[in-house]
Amino acid sequence: MALIVQKFGGTSVKDRNRIFNVARIVMNTRNAGNDVVVVVSAQGDTTDDLIAKAAEITSDPSHREMDMLLATGEQISIALLTMALQELGVSAISLTGWQAGFNTDRAYSKARIKRLDTERVESELARNRVVVVAGFQGLNRSDDITTLGRGGSDTSAVALAAALHADRCQIFTDVEGVYTADPRKIPKATKLKEITFDEMLELASLGAQVLNNRSVELAKKYNVELEVISSINPVPGTIVKEETNVEGMLIKGVAKDNDVAVISIKNVPDVPGMSFKVFSLLAQKNINVDIILQSSGSEGKKDLSFTVPLGDAEAAVSALNSAASRFGGGEISVDKNSAKVSIVGAGMQSHSGVASTMFEALFSQNINIKMISTSEIKISVIIDKQDADKAVAAIHDAFIN
Ligand code: ADP
Ligand code: ASP
Ligand code: MG
Repeated sequence: MALIVQKFGGTSVKDRNRIFNVARIVMNTRNAGNDVVVVVSAQGDTTDDLIAKAAEITSDPSHREMDMLLATGEQISIALLTMALQELGVSAISLTGWQAGFNTDRAYSKARIKRLDTERVESELARNRVVVVAGFQGLNRSDDITTLGRGGSDTSAVALAAALHADRCQIFTDVEGVYTADPRKIPKATKLKEITFDEMLELASLGAQVLNNRSVELAKKYNVELEVISSINPVPGTIVKEETNVEGMLIKGVAKDNDVAVISIKNVPDVPGMSFKVFSLLAQKNINVDIILQSSGSEGKKDLSFTVPLGDAEAAVSALNSAASRFGGGEISVDKNSAKVSIVGAGMQSHSGVASTMFEALFSQNINIKMISTSEIKISVIIDKQDADKAVAAIHDAFIN
């Protein structure tokens, strides 16, 4: 008997029919002789709707209360799916994140899983029940509810698969797998049969929301092979694993991320310790910095630009403003009209001309590049937000079609 973890996203459980569709997938897996642990997200747009409700009350909600609110979405899904399973005659029980043993750090809205105590899940499995766990949520050391960040149910599923040594971890979603670009935006995008953890981690981190990046990080760490498949069409999906056999594909995907703000500090003193002072300040505030660009100094001054998530831009600017005297001043500005477009593929390590092909595609559309960042398996550019979709299409055409 195998143990299978199956995760279903919001669209897959959005209404009664979809819930029964999921219940039948789970029932069939169970009837095939497997133990099943199910992880579900909030129904449809529930999480966005809850965020909008909070915004009706305040523009600056307490992070603790925000997590208290958002965690309710998943609780609805687990109860409804469990009722549907019971309706189909399947023995099942729902568990919240904390009942399922998810202990996290304190970082509300982006908590990390610290420990997963699986006793309860295991004892329910031992009683021959399907266990339906709420994704996205946990409990911190003060017994307060935390959430794992948008798309965090993927991470809950991978964590359970790792802790329970599951034989398979299936991520069911509303597309048929991982594509060379978002198939809803680029109709010519093709489905990948396989992709490596490293490539998927880059794609997810660079904006391909089909998998949450932390879930891929965790899958790589514990070597949990993932299968991304459709909950609607029963066709083969995409396998995410350590190594793949697919040769000759230079670029695995093109991703776009609108969640970018570019912060610039002009005319900071060109002295040792400057970058340390600026970035340690942001680290203290738990703000992730991505691309960093520093001009070569002239006349004892230099310019520093870097990107942060859009939602952290105001906090970053106010932290920098209030500590400006510590790093000797400078003119701080923020640009919220940018997007990051990236290509990812392990194949580019051994090929020249990849960057120039990407830049040519952008030039062909007359798109200006504001910043560039590269690693062994990806190239990212920061461009104007209004050019981003055009850029993805042009780059995808240049490499894949
Ligand atoms: P779920 O609710 O199942 O977690 P998400 O909305 O989080 O689903 O992720 C699935 C969506 O990811 C798809 O509907 C698709 O529009 C988007 N997406 C973005 N990039 C890609 C890609 N490269 N391959 C597949 N889907 C992608
Ligand atoms: N419901 C949460 C979200 O919308 C978590 C998830 O769907 O994975 O981000
Ligand atoms: Mg998701």
